[in-house]
Amino acid sequence: MSQAERLTRASEILIELFRSPVPTHFFQTLGDRAGEAVPSHYLAVCLQDPEKSGYLVHSLASVDEASPAQRVFSLDEGLPGRAMSTGKPYLVDELMAEDGVDDLEGVLAAAGLRAVLVVPIRRGLEMLGALLFAARPPIRYGDDDLQIAQLLASGLSAALETSLAYQGASDERSTLGAVLASTADAVLMQNPAGLILLANAAVRPMLGLAPESITGRPLLEAIDYAPLRDLFVAGREGISDLPLPDGRIAQASLVRVTTPFGEPVGVAVILRDITLLKNMEQMKNDFVNTVSHDLKGPITVICGLADLMRMAGPGHPALVERCQGIRDTAQHMADLVTGLLDIGKIEAGLDSAREPVDLVATIGEALRMVKPRAEPKNIELLVELPDEAIVSAVGIRLRQALINLIDNGVKYTPAGGRVTVVAARSVLADGGEMVTVRVTDTGIGIAAKDLSHVFDKFYRVKSRATRDIAGTGLGLAITRTIVEACGGRIRVDSVEGSGTTFTLELPLARS
Ligand code: ADP
Repeated sequence: MSQAERLTRASEILIELFRSPVPTHFFQTLGDRAGEAVPSHYLAVCLQDPEKSGYLVHSLASVDEASPAQRVFSLDEGLPGRAMSTGKPYLVDELMAEDGVDDLEGVLAAAGLRAVLVVPIRRGLEMLGALLFAARPPIRYGDDDLQIAQLLASGLSAALETSLAYQGASDERSTLGAVLASTADAVLMQNPAGLILLANAAVRPMLGLAPESITGRPLLEAIDYAPLRDLFVAGREGISDLPLPDGRIAQASLVRVTTPFGEPVGVAVILRDITLLKNMEQMKNDFVNTVSHDLKGPITVICGLADLMRMAGPGHPALVERCQGIRDTAQHMADLVTGLLDIGKIEAGLDSAREPVDLVATIGEALRMVKPRAEPKNIELLVELPDEAIVSAVGIRLRQALINLIDNGVKYTPAGGRVTVVAARSVLADGGEMVTVRVTDTGIGIAAKDLSHVFDKFYRVKSRATRDIAGTGLGLAITRTIVEACGGRIRVDSVEGSGTTFTLELPLARS
């Protein structure tokens, strides 16, 4: 075959190499066709390992016996090692077994192969490996073979580079795909022609749209939710709030996507559910408004009373009464601040650790502390308790909760009434035990419309009956927080005008 013909074959092989970016395809092509351009009985691609400390031999076309060991050869082993270290090709006419290592040249020589041609494969200055041809006599390699082998080696190097770039892009694509599929944010992308280029899985829970059924369709036809369509139509880059079809709120970011060369790829909208954040913001605002309002009221009263005293002078007959007014109002403010701090502490879990506490003894302590307020009103305090009921709680907090309930009973019951505390143990279906405490009074009761709010922070029933009763509206909120921190529950039943019962259920500590 003439050199011109062999060059033509070599060019065909090079074209074939680039048909697919997969390395196995390169090796297959070379194995099948390299013989058309460079005759051989054995062909191998030797590639350096990633650490560049040695090379592996991949036999592409082999004679029966010529199969070198599957191991990493070091760079000072064999002709390929030499070609890689020096960057030079090698031509050998008479390969002898003792010429090289047993594992490579030894095996080839033993198989009767005598002529060897090795050319380095490199990319720029970087050495990738070597291409090794070997043949039996009468074949001998000359400069023409060398020229074509070098051509094939450069083709293989370029193909390997393309393969690496392809692999990188495809890895990046699958990572991106995995991120997009698993994120809770909905991502929608529209190409410049108005078609939906991408819709990830989160589009379904957020917008109620099936991603597979809208991808590829015109966006304005596939999406009939007006606020989202308007966002794409306006196409303004930036962040805005977007109400979702089911009433939740999303933060929508619109970005224009371009290639690194500045060509437009489309417009992407990323939606993040911020309903919880918005609700918390609203709660925080309500809370701050209520707190500032409740603290501002007493301060205004204190200032007003102090002004009156200053204007009236020291001998004024109302002096004592106004001093008492200032005292009471300041006390109310102090109660508010203490209540707020208590709630903050309990909610943040900053209380000391829970320990076994006898609820029966704690009820006794609470009753003793409320008694001085019941006696002047002639309110009878009755109890019905078991011998013992050990619960897991922070002792002083549990006592605080019980005092709040019993004290409210006394506070909201007219003189001559009765407050009863009954506790009883019961066995649960799972074998555990709980204790139920009922605090019942014969007082003014709570109207049905107020019942569901009495545990809210700062909620106070506004009625003729409560008008003259002082309070902060924090006691029951604190009580509920304490009860829940012990793993319990609290509820209220009441008939306006005849009395109220607070029921507390607490799990007993397992012994
Ligand atoms: P306060 O400091 O106002 O007593 P609480 O949080 O303890 O705050 O109670 C909230 C509101 O629930 C009270 O303002 C009162 O209107 C109502 N309430 C609580 N306990 C009783 C009760 N035993 N009888 C009638 N109303 C009650």
